[in-house]
Amino acid sequence: MRCSFCNSERVVRAGKRKRKYVTKQQWRCLDCKRWFIEHDGFEGMTYQKEVISETLRLYVKGLPLNKITNFMYQHRGYKIYGSRILDWAKKYSELVKKLEKRAKPNRNL
Ligand SMILES: [Zn+2]
Repeated sequence: MRCSFCNSERVVRAGKRKRKYVTKQQWRCLDCKRWFIEHDGFEGMTYQKEVISETLRLYVKGLPLNKITNFMYQHRGYKIYGSRILDWAKKYSELVKKLEKRAKPNRNL
C-alpha cells in the first residue's frame, strides 16, 4: 500500500470507514500526514465488489438482464438496474474477459 498523495510507503492502518454497503480500510501516511482510503479499483462504487463480480458472472453466462436483476434481488437483497449492469460490464471489461475465460458452457445457476 502506498500513499495516494505522495506515494510514500510509510503508511499505517487507521481504522475502517463505513459507507452504505462497503467498509473500507482507512490509512494514514506518516510522511505527508494525510488520510486516505485503500484503493482497489472499485472507488466510488456503492456496491461491494463481490456483488459486482457475481452480477458480471451471471452476465457472462448470458442471462437476460431482468433475470440477473431478479436473482440478485432474491438471493442477495440488492436491487440492481439493468442499465447499471451494462455500465459495470463496460467499466470492468477486464474482469468480464477473465470471467468469460473461466465460465464453463452449459452450466445452470
Ligand atoms: Zn503521503
